Amino acid sequence: MSRVIIIGGGAAGLAAAVSAASCGDEVLVLERMDRVGKKLLATGNGRCNLMNTQTLRYPSGADFAAEVLKRCGPADQRRFWEGLGLRLREEGEGRVYPADAQAATVLDVLRLHLARLGVAVQTGVQVTALTREGRRWRVTVASGETWTADRVIVAGGGRAQPKLGSDGSAYALMTAQGHRLRTPMPALTQIETERKPIAGLSGIRVKCGVSVWHGGRLLHRENGEALFADYGVSGVCVMQCAQYAAKRDTSLSLCLLPDMGIADEEGLRAELQRRRTDWARVPLEQLWTGLSPARLGQALFRRAEIRPNDRVCGSLTEAEISRLTAAAAAFTLRVTGIRGFDTAQVTAGGIDTDGFDPANLASRIAPGLHAAGEVLDVDGDCGGFNLMFAFGSGILAGLNGRKPNHP
Ligand SMILES: Cc1cc2nc3c(=O)[nH]c(=O)nc-3n(C[C@H](O)[C@H](O)[C@H](O)COP(=O)(O)OP(=O)(O)OC[C@H]3O[C@@H](n4cnc5c(N)ncnc54)[C@H](O)[C@@H]3O)c2cc1C
Repeated sequence: MSRVIIIGGGAAGLAAAVSAASCGDEVLVLERMDRVGKKLLATGNGRCNLMNTQTLRYPSGADFAAEVLKRCGPADQRRFWEGLGLRLREEGEGRVYPADAQAATVLDVLRLHLARLGVAVQTGVQVTALTREGRRWRVTVASGETWTADRVIVAGGGRAQPKLGSDGSAYALMTAQGHRLRTPMPALTQIETERKPIAGLSGIRVKCGVSVWHGGRLLHRENGEALFADYGVSGVCVMQCAQYAAKRDTSLSLCLLPDMGIADEEGLRAELQRRRTDWARVPLEQLWTGLSPARLGQALFRRAEIRPNDRVCGSLTEAEISRLTAAAAAFTLRVTGIRGFDTAQVTAGGIDTDGFDPANLASRIAPGLHAAGEVLDVDGDCGGFNLMFAFGSGILAGLNGRKPNHP
């Protein structure tokens, strides 16, 4: 029997603890917060989108994530959860949730098995140092108390939403052993833009295509629903663009045509030309009625430098129709920044995965040391990819090459 210490009682740490203990290891989890799994409870708006069965989507660390998930992917993780007694339900786009759609149920199940398998959990302890002593590891916490173990699994997460526990302190534990840190950056977060063009749009949701541009170069494109806010734009598709928009001098371009139910620019041009004829005496302010919310219509007029006051639709010139069409097809906003770690859902960057074996997440530098979850330089898109990597890597680190023996 080995003694295993797990640093961090989040998704990766708790999965590692259950796996290791189910193989007969004596396991201790050390967690800095007053309870384990705080972030887990906040995931998926409290519903916990815990994995995804479709094509892997990892903007960074994709190859390493694929290697890990080849060994512990959705089918293996489903067996893990069902072995613990958690029923799952798959929804659209391969997103998998607990059947009762409660993140608390996932944590309850993990905690039940921690207790059943005799895993010791200490909360309110901040691990500050790891030292190698012969073939064992000594783990020191802020109070000065220490423990020794044969294996240590660092599962301290990244820097996203430190109020939920992950304060980035786990990085230093790994760099002190010679592992390289790739600069942590907020990801899956809202994008801040110039304010004038979006004045009055806060709260409006649009189905759109979102693209990030740097100079004349397209950096990234997503489709989905965006939400205008006072500071800029939010929504899943926008958040997935955030790490690309974090560069200097980027702009965000929203194609609003999908929200109007119009296929392309020519379609909108034809519709506006039709309105110019059929609605010739209708006030120009009404031009967007049925296509777009009034406030967004006003923003499009501003963007096209058209004052609709005291005019009728019949007065639109061909050049004005071109400007309105262009504004709707590419509503472009200068990016002024992205929201920080306080609101980000994940961290891009982290401990370089080159230093780890994807089969058991063991360090290639420091024997007996493992890392799992978001502390590593892997980040996924929305849809369950981040928890799937955290759970998959945690399970493999706990098993350490042994066959699963889940309860
Ligand atoms: C609001 C929100 C919603 C999300 N929703 C989803 C979702 O639905 N689906 C999805 O796939 N992903 C989601 N994510 C991302 C996902 O939650 C994380 O990627 C995942 O929790 C990472 O797991 P982890 O175990 O590596 O880190 P964490 O869950 O962050 O856990 C790390 C733990 O380690 C502890 N710790 C850190 N340092 C130390 C130390 N020095 N000593 C002791 N303890 C320490 C922390 O307190 C924390 O409990 C969401 C994230 C947020 C913030």
